[in-house]
This record gives sequence, C-alpha cells and structure tokens, in this order.
Amino acid sequence: MEERIERACLRSGRRRDSVLLLAVSKVFPAGAIRAAYQCGLREFGENYVQEFETKAPELKDLQGARYHLIGHLQSNKSKRAGELFDVIQTVDSVKLARRLSEFGKPLEVMIEVKLSEEESKHGAGTEGLDALVAAVRALPNLSLSGLMTMPPWSEDPEASRPYFRRLRSIAERYSLEKLSMGMSNDLETAIEEGSTVVRVGTALFGSRKRT
Ligand SMILES: *Cc1c(COP(=O)(O)O)cnc(C)c1O
Repeated sequence: MEERIERACLRSGRRRDSVLLLAVSKVFPAGAIRAAYQCGLREFGENYVQEFETKAPELKDLQGARYHLIGHLQSNKSKRAGELFDVIQTVDSVKLARRLSEFGKPLEVMIEVKLSEEESKHGAGTEGLDALVAAVRALPNLSLSGLMTMPPWSEDPEASRPYFRRLRSIAERYSLEKLSMGMSNDLETAIEEGSTVVRVGTALFGSRKRT
C-alpha cells in the first residue's frame, strides 16, 4: 500500500506527506484496527455509527488514533456521531451540520458532494453548495476542511478521473484544501488529481465479502 501511494506521489510530483492514508475498517473487528495501529496507521474510516459504537470501547488505549465517519449520517444519529468521531466527512445538508454543531464539541467536517446521478449515492448536489458551504462555515463548532466524493464504482480507475477532477475544481472555488477521494481500486488516479485523503479498505484489510 505504502508503495502504491509513494509511486503515485512520485509520478505526480507530490510529497508523500500531502496524502493521508485513511484505513477503512468497516465490517472488520476492533482487532483489525488495533493491528493496523501497531503497523503505524493512525487514522481510520468507519461507515456506520452503530457499528463503530461497538468497537470504540475496545480502542480507548490507542493514543493518537483518529476516527472519520465516511458513511451517510442521519441527523438523528448526529449526537452519537459527534461523540465517537473526530472528523465527519459526510455532511450533506444544513440540517445535519446544525445538529453536529449543536452537540458542542469542535469537529472537523467535510462536505460529501454527489457528482453522479446514481440513485443510491448520498451527498450534497452541486446546485446547493454555495449555501451549504456558507452555512457550515458560519457554525461555531464546525471547521470545514474540504470535500469528499465517491464516484460510481468501476473496474477501470480511469472512469473515476473526471469525478476527481471535478471535485478538485469545486474545492478550489471555495479555497478548501482537503480532498477525500480515491479508494482501493483508483487511489493512484485520485492522487494524480490532487487527493489529500485516500480511503482504503480492501487493499489493506482484504475483501469484505463473506467467503
Ligand atoms: C468502503 C468504503 C471505502 C473503501 O473501499 P475499498 O474499495 O474497500 O478500498 C472508501 N470510502 C467509502 C465511502 C466506503 O464506503
């Protein structure tokens, strides 16, 4: 994994420390997070509040570990999410942002942007982004660091490139520095297009499919 990231950085003239490897540990037990931590990883991505709630008590001793929520968040779970996570990457509405801020803990947040027409995808549409960015920036406990997106799944990493490029240009419009884009199959393309956070599950922990 390190090698794939390093090569992509070299190819695109970027520093290795400009790209965070976020280890996506969904479905895997707390022990997998502990093992990755022992290998030096410090930032972890989880998709479901409830699932992480069961793992978090086993991970209290992992000093310096940070947890990102990368799955869709319903506003009725925002309080619990605020307690459990350091970064919420999937803010997609003003209502959710307000709830997160009301919780009272300073949180780093990113806006999930929906760039494809797929029904199943969550995220904020590009039309309402001006208002959403302004609203999030005005909230006292939220610090907006960047944008996140998830292109339609494809075997071909090149298929993701136009989405990554678009996210970058949108982020530039708002002077947002962080770009959470790229997963196991397309992280090189994402790094070439400016990703600062690659979210990697399968390539680190193995397949999530039941055998
Ligand atoms: C599961 C997931 C990932 C990791 O996907 P892999 O293909 O296993 O690397 C990244 N981002 C999100 C939002 C996910 O749900």
